[in-house]
Amino acid sequence: MKFKLVITALLAAGLAGCQANPVSGRSQLLLVSEEQAQASSAQAYAQAMSEAQKKGKLSTDAALNNRVKRITDRLIAQAGNMYAPSRDWKWSVAVIDEPELNAWCMPGGKMAIYTGIIHKLKLSDDEIGQIMGHEIAHALLGHGRERMSRAIAMQGGMALGSIVSGYDLSILAPVADVALTLPNSREGESEADRYGIELAARAGYDPHAAIKLWEKMSAASGNGPPVFLSTHPSPVNRIQALNALVPTMMPIYEKAR
Ligand SMILES: [Zn+2]
Repeated sequence: MKFKLVITALLAAGLAGCQANPVSGRSQLLLVSEEQAQASSAQAYAQAMSEAQKKGKLSTDAALNNRVKRITDRLIAQAGNMYAPSRDWKWSVAVIDEPELNAWCMPGGKMAIYTGIIHKLKLSDDEIGQIMGHEIAHALLGHGRERMSRAIAMQGGMALGSIVSGYDLSILAPVADVALTLPNSREGESEADRYGIELAARAGYDPHAAIKLWEKMSAASGNGPPVFLSTHPSPVNRIQALNALVPTMMPIYEKAR
């Protein structure tokens, strides 16, 4: 209910509106601009990195860091063909040394992948390409902005006051943190699957690995769901839908490899 009230207030103030996403065409209700989302994400990312550094949680495994960087560089090179403004993003990727099964990409291309997901799921390069392709797709499709908008609505009046008084970024940085812990919508997940598998194919990563990845993920959820699945709720027919995309993706992949 709070969400609806805040939205109504913002709409009345002319500060929020529905916009068709330039990549997916889907209409999104956004309370923050792309610039605000990126600035607050950059701030939240810098803070997360400095904390991880202090706790010794940034992986010092040079081979692993190089492997992840090589894969994300290939995806980034293709991201600009899907969403041109991403060519100007200040991309960054961190390998976080934690047992969690997790990976994410904030608005503006600030990414992380956890050693837990790489080691426990024994991810191949193709599977890392798929998971980071999926995460990057969320960012290209403006899903981070949608989650931040929900986080703002959840914080209600306080954030509303700050927005009306001129977009105080010190309020938005925690919003970027909260947004990371909120689940994406199932609709958003289907979109990220669809665009993620294509981004990965264009970067030369096998579309079949997308199916293998989600099979591994669901097998791992036996001992309590991984963090990743709490923020990435599965559309019921995820594997089926990805399977149906494989024949269309194979020629793109064959051409790219
Ligand atoms: Zn997702």
